Amino acid sequence: MPGGWFPLPVTVMGLFACAVFAVLAVAGEIGVLPALAAAALIVLVQALAMRALRRDLDRFGRALEEMAANPDRIEPALPSTSPAIAGQWAALQRLNRFWRQRVARAESELASSNSVLAALPDPIILINERREVMRVNTAARELLGENLLRRDLAAALRNPAVLKATDSVLKTGIGQQIEFDLSLQVDRHLRAGIVPLPGHVEDGYAALLILNDLTSLKRAEQMRADFVANASHELRTPLSTLIGFIETLQGPAADDSEAQKRFLAIMQQQAARMARLVDDLLSLSRIELNEHLPPTGLVDATSILRSVVQTLELRAELRGMRIELQLDDNLPPVLGDEDELSQLFQNLIDNAIKYAKRDTAITVAAVRSNKVRPGVAVSVRDCGEGIPRLHLPRLTERFYRIDTARSREMGGTGLGLAIVKHIVNRHRGVLEIDSELGQGSVFTAHLRIGVPRGVENDSVTTTAHRASAR
Ligand code: ADP
Repeated sequence: MPGGWFPLPVTVMGLFACAVFAVLAVAGEIGVLPALAAAALIVLVQALAMRALRRDLDRFGRALEEMAANPDRIEPALPSTSPAIAGQWAALQRLNRFWRQRVARAESELASSNSVLAALPDPIILINERREVMRVNTAARELLGENLLRRDLAAALRNPAVLKATDSVLKTGIGQQIEFDLSLQVDRHLRAGIVPLPGHVEDGYAALLILNDLTSLKRAEQMRADFVANASHELRTPLSTLIGFIETLQGPAADDSEAQKRFLAIMQQQAARMARLVDDLLSLSRIELNEHLPPTGLVDATSILRSVVQTLELRAELRGMRIELQLDDNLPPVLGDEDELSQLFQNLIDNAIKYAKRDTAITVAAVRSNKVRPGVAVSVRDCGEGIPRLHLPRLTERFYRIDTARSREMGGTGLGLAIVKHIVNRHRGVLEIDSELGQGSVFTAHLRIGVPRGVENDSVTTTAHRASAR
């Protein structure tokens, strides 16, 4: 009970006053009765005052306990007390309000720092002097998984070079940068910036690890290098043939008109192959350049299909094939670029002619589809060998072929489906490849129909591969 000490001096003062009256009475200065009456009065007043004081202090104590039990609540009211106690209580309330405001401000600052940390796209890890993970942001959890807190950094980043660099930063307080590979579900190439922070113990530092995922950058670099190597290789082969024949024509076959005829025919073939390759490379780079800008024109897919089929009918006939058109009536116009859609359909039908069995039918259909919101699905179905499932995800990569010799023999460049994929992507559509071994394949491009401007909301474009190949 607060104030337990208080009655003592009051009692001492009362006793002192009584003693003074006793002395005065003994000395005959005042009468015994008045002295006794005065002493009794003093004791009575003292008792009343002490009772009131004790009651006020009890109330003060209870209010204080209530406030301590619920520091976040508005301070409890103190029932009427003496002005001195009320003054103390008011001061205490002001102090409590001041700290409550301080705490609220600190909490809101902490919450906004947490939001900033969570929103940062790069994974960030805070570790203490003992290399234990103290905080991570959302990006770090997405990259490295849950349950990282309070565990050694090695549980999250199992890479000796990073751990060694981190140990050195914790010891010396000198920041470091390091690039490293990490095997997660997929292999990643990361860069870590390790920044020292003041630690809680003497002679030790905490640290902040800021990770950059360089995987796609590395992959893009690798793809660019592969692409240049592939393209050069594709051009080099016909070029070497041409050079070889030119030398032969200038030398040993200079006077052999029969050989000249044969060689010139081969040279023409090789030159045509180079021209096709250069055309496809140019198409691909042109489409890629515009891929971020979806076409805004409205075109009639069925009339494009009719004209493409017309131009390819002759080639199909050479392999004893028929192209059957199945076009739904009254299809709405699609959002598209006429030349690109023409190239898309041409590549798909051309592949069906190249890779399906002789003397079979190719079915080209256009129907309404809801795959990419209301749209039109254009499919090319052939009766070929079908494509083994393992090839499906890679089929649209540049220069990816199942049988390179067959593709070359049929005049393929290995870029046809890459062009198809990029055109579909630019049209914000979806490409599906369905194939069954021994039955044939269906390539379907889902295209969007025109919608009024402003209603459109671009969705992420995906290229889906569905295989029923076994
Ligand atoms: P290419 O110029 O070689 O035809 P594409 O990019 O058009 O290049 O096609 C890549 C590969 O996909 C082809 O080499 C072929 O192996 C396979 N392919 C494409 N279309 C078909 C199809 N309709 N049937 C079977 N295989 C196909």
